[in-house]
Amino acid sequence: MTLEEILSKDLLEKADIVRLLATQGEEMRLLLKKAMETKFARLDNHVHLRGLIEMSNVCRKSCLYCGVRSGNAKVERYTLTDDEVVECAKLAHKLGYGSVAIQSGERNDREFTDRITRILHRIKAIDNGALGITLSLGEQTPEVYRQWFEAGAHRYLLRIESSTEELYYKIHPHDERHDFHQRLACIDSLLDIGYQTGTGVMVGLPFQTLDNLADDLLFFKGKDVAMVGMGPYIPHPDTPLYQYADQIPSVEERMNLTLKMIAILRLMMPEINMVAATANQTIDPMGREKAIMAGANVIMPNLTPNEYREDYLIYPDKACVGDKPEECFSCLDIRMKAIGHDILYNAWGDSVAFTKKNEKNQYN
Ligand code: SAH
Repeated sequence: MTLEEILSKDLLEKADIVRLLATQGEEMRLLLKKAMETKFARLDNHVHLRGLIEMSNVCRKSCLYCGVRSGNAKVERYTLTDDEVVECAKLAHKLGYGSVAIQSGERNDREFTDRITRILHRIKAIDNGALGITLSLGEQTPEVYRQWFEAGAHRYLLRIESSTEELYYKIHPHDERHDFHQRLACIDSLLDIGYQTGTGVMVGLPFQTLDNLADDLLFFKGKDVAMVGMGPYIPHPDTPLYQYADQIPSVEERMNLTLKMIAILRLMMPEINMVAATANQTIDPMGREKAIMAGANVIMPNLTPNEYREDYLIYPDKACVGDKPEECFSCLDIRMKAIGHDILYNAWGDSVAFTKKNEKNQYN
C-alpha cells in the first residue's frame, strides 16, 4: 500500500500505524500535513490553555525515569499552601486562561485528599465557577476520584506511561505501589465516574519499540479517552533509568517520533484534546509549535510560583522555568498567531469528542 492509501483509510490497523511511525523526510511531512488538515477541519485553528500549577513534589512513588521520585534525595521538597494554589488559579482567571491544571507528586493520605477537595471548592468559588479544573494527582481510590469530581474537577490526567506491561515494569519498580493493573483500573474508574479522562505516554524510552508505540495509540482509541498527552522522554541524571541514556534515540529522533505519534492519533481520534507537552519545548525551542502543527490543540503554561519551579524538575532543563506568568502569556499568544492559530480565552476548552459522546448518551 502507498502512503497516500494508508492516509486515506478510515480505520488504521496496527501494521499501518507502525508503517506511519517509521516514515521519514517527505513521507513524514505528508503525514503531519494530513493531521493538521484533519485538525483544522474538525476543531478549527483553536488552541486551549490550562494554567499549570505544580502543587507539590512530595511523592510516594519511585518511577525510574522521574526526577522527583521519592528515592531522589537531592530534591528539595515543597508543597504550596492552599492560598498559594488559589492565588495561582486567580491569576489564571485574570489572564483569561479559562482553566487550570493541578499537578503533584502522588500522595494518597487523607490529609492530602481532603485538602484537594477544599482547594477545589475554593477554586470553583472564583467568579462563580468560571474556571475549568483538570487534576493530575496520580493513582487514587474510586471514592477519592468521586469526591474530587463532586467538588468540581471535571478533567483528570493519568498517563499509562506504557500500555505494554513488560515495558511498564522496565520503567517502574515492580511492587504494590507501581502496579500496571492498578494504573489501568484507575483509568477505568476515571472514565466510569465521568471525568474527561486523559492518558498518555513518553516517547523514546529505553527498550521502547515502534510496535509498543502503535499499541499505545490503539490503547487510547480502545479506551475512547477524551484527552492525550505525549512528550519525548528526557533522561534525568539522578534517576535509575539514566544508565540507559546512551541507548535511546537522538533528541531529533525523539522529537520527530513524538510528532508522528501526535499526528497519527489526530487521524485516529480527530476530536480529542491533545496537549503540546512542555517536554517538547525543552528539547527543541520550537517544540511546542511543532506539536501544535502536528495536531495538538492544548498548551499548559506554567503558573507555579517561580521560587518552586526549580524543584519540580521531573526532567532536567525544563523550558520556561525562569519566565513570569505574564511574560509567558503574551509570548504564547504571539507564538500561536505566528503559526496560524488562535488561543481561545476565557473558555474551558472541553474535549469535543467527549462532549459529543455525552450528548449521544443522553439521547439514547
Ligand atoms: N504524579 C502524577 C504526575 C506525574 S508528572 C502522576 O503520576 O500522574 C506528569 C508526567 O510527566 C508523567 O506522567 C510522565 O509521563 C512525565 N515525565 C516524568 N518524568 C519524565 C521524564 N524524565 N521525561 C519526560 N517526561 C517525564
